Amino acid sequence: MNRDHDIIVAPATAPGGAIAVVRTSGEGALALCDRIFRGRRPLRDAEGYTVHYGRILDGERIIDDVLVTVFRAPHSYTGEESAEISCHGSAYIVSEILRLLIAAGARTADPGEFTIRAYLAGKLDLSQAEAVADLIASSSQAAHALASTQMRGGYSEALEALRDELLRLTSLLELELDFSEEEVEFADRTQLRDIMTRIDAEIERLRESFSLGNALKEGVAVAIVGAPNAGKSTLLNRLLNEERAMVSEIAGTTRDVIEECANIGGVLFRFLDTAGIRTTDDRLERMGIERTMQSISRARIVVLLTDATTLAPTGMPSAPDFALRPEQTLLHVVNKLDLRPDLDLPADTIGLSARSGSGLDTLRRALRNAVDTAALYHGDVTVSNTRHYEALTAAHEALTNALRGLATHLPTDLLSEEIRQVIRRLGDITGRGAILPDEVLGNIFSKFCVGK
Ligand code: GDP
Repeated sequence: MNRDHDIIVAPATAPGGAIAVVRTSGEGALALCDRIFRGRRPLRDAEGYTVHYGRILDGERIIDDVLVTVFRAPHSYTGEESAEISCHGSAYIVSEILRLLIAAGARTADPGEFTIRAYLAGKLDLSQAEAVADLIASSSQAAHALASTQMRGGYSEALEALRDELLRLTSLLELELDFSEEEVEFADRTQLRDIMTRIDAEIERLRESFSLGNALKEGVAVAIVGAPNAGKSTLLNRLLNEERAMVSEIAGTTRDVIEECANIGGVLFRFLDTAGIRTTDDRLERMGIERTMQSISRARIVVLLTDATTLAPTGMPSAPDFALRPEQTLLHVVNKLDLRPDLDLPADTIGLSARSGSGLDTLRRALRNAVDTAALYHGDVTVSNTRHYEALTAAHEALTNALRGLATHLPTDLLSEEIRQVIRRLGDITGRGAILPDEVLGNIFSKFCVGK
């Protein structure tokens, strides 16, 4: 039996709420619900987009009073006949409803199976389906904006446009093959090169956007570094508003790299807590320093914290003893300003007191300003998915090969095959024009929660 036609069922809400939703989908789902539901009239006679009050019964026993939303094919998330049963949010009630529906002939849905069906029914392409998972997981305004643009298909449209153009090129090339005896050139090679170069530039732009897109999704990595006792742990705790990192008077006791997140101005920041940088003979401390260096290289923003009590009155903090890449931002921060009200700090230095909290807003603003999200809110496509990034990289490599082939006068059939490679790699992202193996699909959808 083809599992794709089973009636599937799953809880769609997380435990703990006042209301829970059990979702079911598949041909015959409404008649199946009728076997455990008593309302004014059977659900199988109901129109789509209507809600019905009634009871879930196990024989004569009343399980709960519920509301059932009816969807008719093809006007549902999956494109199939579906019902959503809203019951009281008790784990027991939910499990009873699931048990009864399964006894009546449904089966438990796999993770993401509702969305797989939506994809197979052509309601969403793959990148949109993946955006659904990102949308559910989004924990900041920026991550939400990323996911929702992708879900609404902005990204798919951009990719389709590139694919269409490449398809047009290959068909011109392939036309030449049909006339190979006559040595005609339908595709002007100079024009071909210009178009391919332009498409490659667009692919490169998408690839470059991944660094920011991924950071916004996973949290922008920030390393807070400085000498032991500069107040790194105190500052981190302040930023997180909780006491998780170990705060200690003993120099160099923060040895473990821990990661915590905070939402600042609509962007998620991931703090890489680090041990202090300083020269030492102590082996453990040295391990801490190595980790600090790793954190610095992983960070997008490095906060260099200096203890105000170690500064001369001009307040000029010493230069960092590590190098940053051009895309990394360095913020000079002087802490414990409460102990040194006399300090006259340079303009590019943020002064604060991690203990009292004064000056912290300036740091938060500086962190937020270090992340340029303008593109995100101006409709530019930003790539945030690792799978897409890899496909774009493969497309770029294939396009580089094709351009090389063009320069070296590769025979038309081989050239056209190189371009077809690019088309395939771009198609992998949306799942359009590509036949994806089941394992690839399984991999993508296994990251979903059950019920989505
Ligand atoms: P770390 O080694 O850099 O993580 O430094 P800690 O956060 O453990 O702080 C070292 C000491 O400095 C602790 O006793 C903190 O209470 C103290 N401290 C941190 N920030 C401030 C501040 O803004 N003002 C004052 N007066 N003390 C601070």
